[in-house]
Amino acid sequence: MCLLALLAVPAAQSASAADLSLADPAGRWATPGSICHAELRAGESEAAVAATASRWTCDQGDWQADAETMLLRFDMRGQSVADPVLTLSNRLFDSLSITAASENGNLRRENMSADDLSVSSPVWRFTHAVAVPSGRLSAIIVRFDGVQIAPRLAPTRISDGQPSVPIATLDQIVAALLAGLLLAPILFDLGFQRVLRKSFPLYHALFCAMAVVQTLAVSGLLTLLLGVGQGTQHVVAQLSFDMTVAAGTLFAASFIEREQLGDRGRTILRAIAVLAVSLGIARLLLADALGVAVMQIYYGGYAIFIVGLCAALARPLRGASRALRFVLLSYLPLLAIGIARIGSALTTNMADTLPMVQAQHLALAWQITVSAFAVADRFMTLKRERDRARTAAEVAERASERDPLTGLLNRRALQRKYAALREEGFTTLAVLDLDHFKRVNDRHGHTVGDQVLKCVAEAITPSHGDTMAFRMGGEEFVLLLRGEDALCRAEAKRRSIAERIAESGLVDTAVTASMGLVEVPPGTLADTGFDALYERADRLLYEAKAAGRDRTMSERLRVFHPRRGEDRRIAA
Ligand code: GH3
Ligand code: MG
Ligand code: MG
Repeated sequence: MCLLALLAVPAAQSASAADLSLADPAGRWATPGSICHAELRAGESEAAVAATASRWTCDQGDWQADAETMLLRFDMRGQSVADPVLTLSNRLFDSLSITAASENGNLRRENMSADDLSVSSPVWRFTHAVAVPSGRLSAIIVRFDGVQIAPRLAPTRISDGQPSVPIATLDQIVAALLAGLLLAPILFDLGFQRVLRKSFPLYHALFCAMAVVQTLAVSGLLTLLLGVGQGTQHVVAQLSFDMTVAAGTLFAASFIEREQLGDRGRTILRAIAVLAVSLGIARLLLADALGVAVMQIYYGGYAIFIVGLCAALARPLRGASRALRFVLLSYLPLLAIGIARIGSALTTNMADTLPMVQAQHLALAWQITVSAFAVADRFMTLKRERDRARTAAEVAERASERDPLTGLLNRRALQRKYAALREEGFTTLAVLDLDHFKRVNDRHGHTVGDQVLKCVAEAITPSHGDTMAFRMGGEEFVLLLRGEDALCRAEAKRRSIAERIAESGLVDTAVTASMGLVEVPPGTLADTGFDALYERADRLLYEAKAAGRDRTMSERLRVFHPRRGEDRRIAA
């Protein structure tokens, strides 16, 4: 009856004498200045419980309560509080009523819903200025209805005037440092992604970015730095945790070696990433409709998440994947906290979740640090592999430009390098062909023919950088020359061929060579491309052969410098 009478009292009005026992102004059982709490079970009278000393617990460290209606009593005797302000750390209840009692027996009661409390910024607090009756204040009793997690009411306090709010708490400064540190891996990730063109650095960057958002939101920095509303900050704080978990999982899916993780593992990881985000969204959307049960659904969902994670990682664990070792090491603290939170959420009243939030931040920081090392390690491995492959490709490329028999550069190399060499001053091209080489083969066999070709290579191999020698195929060679006396130097090389073969004693008759040489100085308007010059030199070679072999035919394209108004002319 008394309870009903109390509920009927409109906000902030003087209460009747019947409520005196509730306020217990005489302090029959309470000690001055104490803060005590009591559970109110369904059907119990508020006044009766208030007056029964055995129902009250005044040890603030002993919050075992789990009732949906809680009484919290602040004994105000001996304290000079002029403007009492109620401060709460959360709004995990539906409504509350505040009764202020004075020593002369006056009462004042206010009823309000949780949403009526004003929000302080940047620290996560809700406050209400308590309406006081006339006379010296003796006690303030707060009744909470629709309580979700009773122990979360423990930090509720009465202060004199609005509590002073620091610019930033130590937690926030640490969180700001952490957020700053988390930005570094993001920059590295973007750099790695540019070099490697793989998706895992992007997922890692997303993971870090989500962790930054989560750190900023949970610490209240989002409001402090960006002026985001408390409601928004709360939503961001909740959702960003699930997004961080999802991004971390997608990172693992793309990071663990494909052959180790397998398609099934990858699909599971992607599915539980979607699950994590869905759980976060469901928690936000269904909180009002389901009340505290939504947390059970949420943590139950995360139990499935952990089972999925273990199922996906079992195979690479057997395969001793290097990436998995990193992923496991990074996940370990977060997994342990996750399992503890799920356990406490599903079995107890979630009393200990608050300190776990801090532990969770440390675990996230650990996960990001280890995974950043993992990304850097993979980067180094892939870079080493690529460098090795590139070196091998370069070696193969170089080998493909060499003639295996003589070791000279081949036609392919000549065609590739010709333009650059001409730029460097190699303006003389000579084609050499052995005379009657067929006979050598016929008389001494192909093997001796090969030895003779090697002798030719030795004879024409350049001794300094102004000559380059190539084997074009068969018994045909090309010399590229620059500098003074190119014709003479080429001629000396041609003659040395016969000498070198004679010295070798491989054949009993002289083996000579014929040469066609063309010199095209810079400034000519003639086609100085390789094909054009080669064709010209080959024609001169043919002429040398026709003229009796063992000789050189050469030509020099000349440049006529035009007088004013005349075109430049070229002549052979
Ligand atoms: P000419 O003075 O007109 O050039 O006479 P030639 O006999 O040298 O003419 P031809 O170009 O017809 O003959 C070239 C021969 O070189 C034909 C081929 O059997 C031989 N030959 C081509 N490549 C090789 C090789 O790698 N090793 C050996 N031993 N012989 C080769
Ligand atoms: Mg020949
Ligand atoms: Mg030939």
